[in-house]
Amino acid sequence: MAKIEIKNLSKDFVANGIKTVHAVKNASLTVNDGEVVVIIGPSGSGKSTLLRSVNMLETPTSGQIFIDDIEVTDPKTDLRKVREEVGMVFQSFNLFPHLTVLDNITLAPRKVLKMDKASAEKLALELLEKVGLKDKAKSHPNQLSGGQQQRVAIARSLAMNPKAMLFDEPTSALDPEMIKEVLDVMLALAKDGTTMLLVTHEMGFARAAADKVVFMDSGEIIEEGSPEEMFTHP
Ligand code: ADP
Ligand code: ADP
Repeated sequence: MAKIEIKNLSKDFVANGIKTVHAVKNASLTVNDGEVVVIIGPSGSGKSTLLRSVNMLETPTSGQIFIDDIEVTDPKTDLRKVREEVGMVFQSFNLFPHLTVLDNITLAPRKVLKMDKASAEKLALELLEKVGLKDKAKSHPNQLSGGQQQRVAIARSLAMNPKAMLFDEPTSALDPEMIKEVLDVMLALAKDGTTMLLVTHEMGFARAAADKVVFMDSGEIIEEGSPEEMFTHP
């Protein structure tokens, strides 16, 4: 696992070529090795843009981001490599519908890491066990519930042995009864010492797992502290 360091990050969007939206304004944030940091704040406050900048799904307007000693914002850095090393789980699961659960998980290790089929499948089964879905290896995504699909998506990210994991509202698209099964997997990852940066509205998760909670408003980091500090004072 690794440390994520965001330094003085700003991101402007030009909407319709006219209005400039300052989505993130001079934000600095460190997620130390093995830490869990949760970003909270109102809709449109820049949470997702900040998160997506870490693996350069958004190109920052200014500022720097480091994963350990690699500057991902350096134009010379190979972004494909960064995206291999930083796992990301989205609100929508984005599984390949025509592939089995097992093949969804083995695809990247086989294609990108050149892992042989047997090793990739062994790894996939271990990860499926970890997310409680070993019996679904041969299923297709459309045979699974939303919660199960999201757990497969997490397993698929983990198969690349990422240095850190990003989560962008991973439970927001799920029916209430499925949220807990996904949060339990995320909680287990947190306890395992996975470096995690998340945008989530699940305050119970933040209380239970976060080392730090960061509050954003209008593109700025307004406040940060432990869950106790952030949630107890008036
Ligand atoms: P949050 O995740 O907190 O809801 P976002 O990071 O998604 O906030 O958005 C921050 C601001 O940037 C919002 O005003 C949003 O409308 C704007 N924004 C996000 N993505 C784009 C885009 N691709 N083009 C233009 N504006 C965008
Ligand atoms: P958009 O389609 O608006 O650009 P998406 O959230 O759909 O935004 O994803 C942006 C790109 O990132 C897509 O090409 C997607 O395939 C890619 N992507 C998906 N998963 C990952 C990941 N784990 N790490 C990096 N990039 C990813």
